[in-house]
Amino acid sequence: MGKILRYITDDGLVSVTAIEGTDIVAEAKRIFGTTPVMTLALGRLLMGTAIMGDMLKEENGSITVRMNGGGQGGSLIAVSDFKGNPRGYAQVPGLLIMPDDNGQLDITGAVGSSGTFSVVKDFGAGEPYIGQIPIVKGNVSEDITAYYAVSEQIPTVVLLGVIFDKIWNFSRAGGLFIQLLPAADEREIEIIEKNLKEQPKIEAMLENGLSMEEICQKVMTGFNLELLSEDEVSYKCNCSLERVKRSLMTLDKGEIIKMANEEESIEVCCHFCDKKYNLSSQELLDLIK
Ligand SMILES: [Zn+2]
Repeated sequence: MGKILRYITDDGLVSVTAIEGTDIVAEAKRIFGTTPVMTLALGRLLMGTAIMGDMLKEENGSITVRMNGGGQGGSLIAVSDFKGNPRGYAQVPGLLIMPDDNGQLDITGAVGSSGTFSVVKDFGAGEPYIGQIPIVKGNVSEDITAYYAVSEQIPTVVLLGVIFDKIWNFSRAGGLFIQLLPAADEREIEIIEKNLKEQPKIEAMLENGLSMEEICQKVMTGFNLELLSEDEVSYKCNCSLERVKRSLMTLDKGEIIKMANEEESIEVCCHFCDKKYNLSSQELLDLIK
């Protein structure tokens, strides 16, 4: 089980939201058979979107983050409910990009850096909020930072780590957002920047087995953190036969009749969890009524 931890500094100036994302990323890898570079890209997007979902204040809200960067991995999408339970999808989960000589995976090559990063916040009622910025980096973390700076004017540090063992088996994932609240000023920024320079990278801390609590304490050295909440989260799809039928109903009538005439039954596969739904030709025809 993953979890999301929310902290605020005791002076009320900085918030920190962290996710233990190992089980979420492992589940995505299991469903899609992602290669290391795509486990990294989709894993970061799932964790980032989960934190963004958890930040929604609206009960029953959801958030959808799409990256169309023109990279070799195609488009990436992640959706989270308001509790921070994500699901996601990448167009080319099996993309093979070898690590470079320094053992780095080319996430920007997979995601692409010339396209759009878009966010749709569905509040459960009324018009959704839609924000879109050009992709700045294609590494997910810095794109989320840019999104918050441009679209929401919230200074945000985004650290998202997905790590592998020596033979590139996925081993652990975790991440956190640091956000400055409106009354914060230069002093807080200086301390955080100093910590980011002096403390180990999130990947190293994950590798060394530090808990997300310990990692938050380290990156927030010099502040006192108060835990506001701790919630269990997991990779969660909300598909159902009913939803599959509703999406089929958006197809052209002629298209549905054609399918019903050609096949005894059709199989519809959920993009997000690979669950398969079978509909008989009669069920297809019933949709038209
Ligand atoms: Zn599903």
